[in-house]
Amino acid sequence: MYADLHIHTRFSDGSSTPEDIVDIAARNGTKVIAICDHDTVAGLPRAAISAKKNGISLIEGIEFSTTTDGIPIHILGYNCDRKAPKFRNFLTELNEDRTATTKRIFDKLVKTGKLKYSWEDVLRHNKDAGYIYSVHVFYAMMADGFYTNNSEWNEFHYSMFAPGCPAYESTQAANARAAIEVVNSCKGLSVLAHPILMQRDDKLDELVSWGLQGIEVYYPSCRAADICRYLEFAEKKSLVVTGGTDFHGDFTKWDVTVGSVGLTKGQVMSLNI
Ligand SMILES: [Zn+2]
Ligand SMILES: [Zn+2]
Repeated sequence: MYADLHIHTRFSDGSSTPEDIVDIAARNGTKVIAICDHDTVAGLPRAAISAKKNGISLIEGIEFSTTTDGIPIHILGYNCDRKAPKFRNFLTELNEDRTATTKRIFDKLVKTGKLKYSWEDVLRHNKDAGYIYSVHVFYAMMADGFYTNNSEWNEFHYSMFAPGCPAYESTQAANARAAIEVVNSCKGLSVLAHPILMQRDDKLDELVSWGLQGIEVYYPSCRAADICRYLEFAEKKSLVVTGGTDFHGDFTKWDVTVGSVGLTKGQVMSLNI
């Protein structure tokens, strides 16, 4: 596709560097990419330099991972004013909450003997990270020889840190309403990520009433019927339509690469971002 508006890097839970992502986009003929790491914009400056060098247009993005009324709801923000104090403060709050939540899960896993590792070592290996998530624990343990390959990540994460695991806790700081408000008030475009994963179409009206501006219709697991349903909803509510792969490098759940799902040139131009 011409544009892929949902891509993760190592700055959140992808395995690729921003430079890797630009290289893959260039190889695949994808002209517009949006890096949307979870709750961080730290990868954007590097992505911008690399994109410029390779003639790729970069849209600055972020994906806020929220739990709202017990439902995981992810809000994408495109082209936010990331220097705005409101934006920065919101990120700081989320990042502190994320690290604290990861540590609580980590401590439980250590206490029950499921993990034999120290939090100090996790921090030592992640000095540049804005927050600590399970992927940072994995990378630290890999650096210390406990794991040898990225292919071990899924087993690591889904057996210990994911919803449904005994030690799991959800983060508390963010809810979708706050995320939408922050994106909108920092001049960004707020978009509901992967409604197909949320599986709660009954929640869509409420999200729109909170100021949601767009919906991610084109997504790897969306079938034709889902696409039609979301397109109709978008039209009815005057929402913009976006799409992307949610590429996570080696950790991607679907069989996709950068640009295999996304928007056409006309679609991305009409977004005006
Ligand atoms: Zn997501
Ligand atoms: Zn994502």
